[in-house]
Amino acid sequence: MNTLSCPKCQHDKTAKSGIVKNRQRYRCKQCNYHFTVEKAGKQIDSYYVIKALQLHLEGVGYREIERLLGVSHVTVMNWVKKWGIKAPDQLEYRPTYSVMNHQELLHFMKDNRQLKGMGMLVTELGDKYMVIRWERFRVQ
Ligand SMILES: [Zn+2]
Repeated sequence: MNTLSCPKCQHDKTAKSGIVKNRQRYRCKQCNYHFTVEKAGKQIDSYYVIKALQLHLEGVGYREIERLLGVSHVTVMNWVKKWGIKAPDQLEYRPTYSVMNHQELLHFMKDNRQLKGMGMLVTELGDKYMVIRWERFRVQ
């Protein structure tokens, strides 16, 4: 399945090792050398497209998506246009979100008060997790 080979020792057993600045990072299983691939092909691209569209649907602004995913807001706008995504008006619920590592997520979930009275979605974000919550608020 994995056709990449290590640029240092040419070994072909490599493992994915996180995403660094939009690039897929790999680790050679033989010599432990880390390397990144400029454009890791369709898989990474569609990963970010889906995440961006998902965030857009959840009411997160373009600039925020840019900040979270490192994909320019113009690119995100183009994806929204390309895929014909129309986010529903969200008048009563306002999304808030935070990005956490695994430990922080466990800690967060432990407290029952964090889970009650609001919608919630946990989505993978590179090597971290994003928790999106919908909090009810009054329309002025
Ligand atoms: Zn190697």
